[in-house]
Amino acid sequence: MNENEILRRGFSVLEQYHSSQKDGRFVDYTSPGDLQRILQLDDPESEGDWEKLFTWMEQYLKYGVKSAHPSFVNRMWAGANLPSMLGEMAVAISNTSSCTFESAPVSTLMEKYMIRQMLDLVGFRNGEGQMTTGSSNANMIAMMCARNLAGKEVKRTGLFGQQELYAFVNADAHYSMDKAANILGIGIDHLIKLPVNGRGEVDPADLESELASVVEAGGIPFFVVATAGTTVRGAYDPIEAMLKLREKYKFWLHVDGAWGGAAVMSEKLRAKFLPGLSKADSFTWDFHKMLGSSLMCNILLVNHSTHTFGTVLGGGDGSYLFRDTDDNDVQDLGSVSLQCGRRVDSLKWFLDWKYFGKKGFGERIEHYLDLCRYAQECVENIPELEMVAPRVSFNICFRYKVAEHMADDFNQELRTRLYKRGLALVGLAYVKEKLILRLLITNINVNRDEIDTFFKELVAIGNELVGEGQLG
Ligand SMILES: *Cc1c(COP(=O)(O)O)cnc(C)c1O
Repeated sequence: MNENEILRRGFSVLEQYHSSQKDGRFVDYTSPGDLQRILQLDDPESEGDWEKLFTWMEQYLKYGVKSAHPSFVNRMWAGANLPSMLGEMAVAISNTSSCTFESAPVSTLMEKYMIRQMLDLVGFRNGEGQMTTGSSNANMIAMMCARNLAGKEVKRTGLFGQQELYAFVNADAHYSMDKAANILGIGIDHLIKLPVNGRGEVDPADLESELASVVEAGGIPFFVVATAGTTVRGAYDPIEAMLKLREKYKFWLHVDGAWGGAAVMSEKLRAKFLPGLSKADSFTWDFHKMLGSSLMCNILLVNHSTHTFGTVLGGGDGSYLFRDTDDNDVQDLGSVSLQCGRRVDSLKWFLDWKYFGKKGFGERIEHYLDLCRYAQECVENIPELEMVAPRVSFNICFRYKVAEHMADDFNQELRTRLYKRGLALVGLAYVKEKLILRLLITNINVNRDEIDTFFKELVAIGNELVGEGQLG
């Protein structure tokens, strides 16, 4: 086979996969041991053998999870948008790093264009932004900006011998906050987890009393996070009330909208979930979650006109790599990113944006919210099921009702059976120490019929478990 024949064959495998993505089961569950035997990963005969490579590629698709399938309702993302899929293919075939204009002229302009579009959309005047490798790292970079602003010498001298810094987050905030506190030398004991109310939100009065006691003890409250859509419950912290406290305590207010930040696409939902957003210090959200771009697709926006990224993140001698261009606005993106090589994430993002636009994405999010309302009604109308936490936005936290002492084991087994039979993959988490099933709708192939099917199969397996009586 010459290279063109190989490519054609590869594309035909992809096309076949794509056209059958929604058929059959979402996974042909195979145990790790069986999968090891099937894959023969240590086959010594593969060198130069295209047939063998195609076999592995087909096996990758066959035994993998079809995330575009409507039974895949477990993660915050699902099958990708077609424009971004095409973009990814172009990126793979051209293989470059978007750290400099020289090596990635088009993607550099696309990323800058998209950042400006998003700054306008969010309402950060004169701010700046960058694509990062995901919200976890965006959260860390935001914390780093706040840290270096709170201690102007930190970049040079480190955190030695200075007043102690404290960060504040919702007790249900994403675990990446703990990682960031660790990596940045803040220490996880200095990450204050704020209790949540019945809706899973931070109460501003609790925040204020924690801020006050830190100040009284001689510490500096440098960073507060409003989570916009907590990962398990979907709670939105009160940005406006937190902004009021910022006036007094002068911290950096970061909005982690990895999941629920997508609400900015709809004026209606933005007014409901994100009032005050345009005055925050920074905001991140994942385009690869509710908005359906290919993984990874994230942006971090900063609401300051002081070249924060250059000041905080620039460093070391990059003169072998970075060049001044005639146009200052086209400064190399890599000079202020954490990593040197940067994957081209902007093409897929740009194509998605041009194809769907704010209107298309806004309608998508509103539609998802309608479906979430519907799913909640289903739970409430099916006698075998119950909501465990009230639905406050997009997350549906429910379980199959059985006696409390066996509810966790029962629901865990129920979820495992659904998965192993390829019927559905649904999330699992704890809310107030109760194990819950977390249904998320971020898949454009899911509509009311698919939600009905999901609950029907779930209840059938639950009834089967009850019938077996072995968990009682
Ligand atoms: C998913 C999520 C993250 C992590 O995002 P990645 O892009 O996967 O790193 C951070 N915060 C919240 C609230 C999330 O839901």
